[in-house]
Amino acid sequence: MVKGMGIKDELEAEVHLGVQRCKVGKFLDTLDPKDAAELQQAFESQIYPIEAVRRVMLKRGFDGGSTICHRHAHRSCSCVD
Ligand SMILES: [Zn+2]
Repeated sequence: MVKGMGIKDELEAEVHLGVQRCKVGKFLDTLDPKDAAELQQAFESQIYPIEAVRRVMLKRGFDGGSTICHRHAHRSCSCVD
């Protein structure tokens, strides 16, 4: 639990993230902010194959399929309103 974060804040965050973020987005939220930023950058720049990015995430505990990774990379996931 994040220090200084009350239960109500945690619930708000949970509800908000649960609605707004796809499986990839939620996974990125569990990582070190630096790692998450680098992975997000990899998705957005698409210099690496999405499958390679996904394999790196799998090693860190991600269990989503490639479809959601492609949707996240193309901003057609639930992270974007
Ligand atoms: Zn997403």
